[in-house]
Amino acid sequence: MTVFATAECTDALLPVVGAGLPVPLVTGASAPYANLDYAASAPALRAVAEHLATALPYYASVHRGAGYASQVSTALLENSRSCIGRFLGAREDDLVVFTRNTTDALNLLAHCVPRGGSVLYLDIEHHANLLPWQRRGDVVLEAAPTLRETLADVEAALAATPTALLAVTGASNVTGQLLPIRKLAEIAHRHGARIAVDAAQLAPHRRVSLTESGVDYLALSGHKLYAPYGTGVLVGRGDWLDAAPAHLAGGGAVREVGTTGTDWATGPARHEGGTPNVLGAAALARACEELATVGGEALAAHESALRQRLLAGLARLPEISVLSIWPGDAPDPTGAPVHSDKAEAAELEDDSIGVVSFTVAGYHAGWVAAYLSAEHGIGVRDGRFCAHPLVGKLGLAADGAIRASFGVGSTSADVDRLIGALHGLLTNGPAWEYELVDGRYRPVADPRPIPDFAGPRSAVTSPCQAG
Ligand code: PLP
Repeated sequence: MTVFATAECTDALLPVVGAGLPVPLVTGASAPYANLDYAASAPALRAVAEHLATALPYYASVHRGAGYASQVSTALLENSRSCIGRFLGAREDDLVVFTRNTTDALNLLAHCVPRGGSVLYLDIEHHANLLPWQRRGDVVLEAAPTLRETLADVEAALAATPTALLAVTGASNVTGQLLPIRKLAEIAHRHGARIAVDAAQLAPHRRVSLTESGVDYLALSGHKLYAPYGTGVLVGRGDWLDAAPAHLAGGGAVREVGTTGTDWATGPARHEGGTPNVLGAAALARACEELATVGGEALAAHESALRQRLLAGLARLPEISVLSIWPGDAPDPTGAPVHSDKAEAAELEDDSIGVVSFTVAGYHAGWVAAYLSAEHGIGVRDGRFCAHPLVGKLGLAADGAIRASFGVGSTSADVDRLIGALHGLLTNGPAWEYELVDGRYRPVADPRPIPDFAGPRSAVTSPCQAG
């Protein structure tokens, strides 16, 4: 396509494991994998994989092991905790609690909210920041047609009802739009509430600091932050965490156990019952260090260049519509902020991370995703992205949408391939046939082999992915 002829090329910011991986196509050829599914799970940074290779020979039990390897592993775990806290601008008395992922971190926080305290959350959230509150019977607020009106509604809701916690996402996993967390923290605190930010999408793509933003709690997942080794964190104020029952009752969470009662630990240990995931913690810490070397501005500029390139390419295809949470703030097809007044845009953090969701008129989202993978070696996500209320509100409850997402390992070539593949589909149609099997589209008689180490192709589909 000629649309890219004059656009400046964007290279990867950091090396990732799997860059350029050849993947088979249904036509019998192969192509380097274009991973445009970072928002689901990002590839490991090469520095993270190397760090783990160094640490693995010393892997041993932590905290109570007398052996040398145990001492090394204990140091690694606790230094990783400090490193993650520093990266997230934690205050002196904040706790860094290791969890499995963001879902686990937010469920932990949900049971630490003081008894009787109510939580306010928006209907645009990922299920991880929606179901823990819905299950408690907390208060959901419908996002208004514009961000400004939504902020006013949040303020009014907090003023009307005493609220312990405002729980919001830092960046939408559906549209990539950022929420103004500093401003939301001010609003929450003005009304005596704390604020928890689901930073699953925010932290890998923008620098975020608890101290600078005033946010009370951050939750995030290692696998979205280039450290896919099974660890997440909840970071924030210690008082609620120390007063709540242990998240996982078991070894490590206690000081003394009798047959009739237990003296529970305080600090992170209280909620980290069982053997900790030392290597997951080390991976996340190493990823934080590596992102810190890049710096927030370079990170944002890299994603913004790719996002604008993608939006400009999509805008040339009239069959494609890009999703936005705030329909009153119509998205600019070139990716420019919708608020032309710079001060207002900055105040509202009117910006987006590298996540763009769209629909293609005449094609089911799942069909397009299958086509992109089978004929072009491009990985995207389709469906409702575990954000059913938001996607329903955008009128896409039946078919969902297609989501392209990128990060530090992404290049303009990845984006160009997506635009080229969509252009090819809309101009020439597909080269293969696709069928719906168990709710997922797939190539008829898919000839692509799965490598031996993975075993046979899996037919399992989670209801969230499918729907
Ligand atoms: N919050 C957001 C905004 C997300 O995008 C996701 C995952 O996609 C989650 C929470 C849940 O993350 P995890 O599955 O790692 O718990």
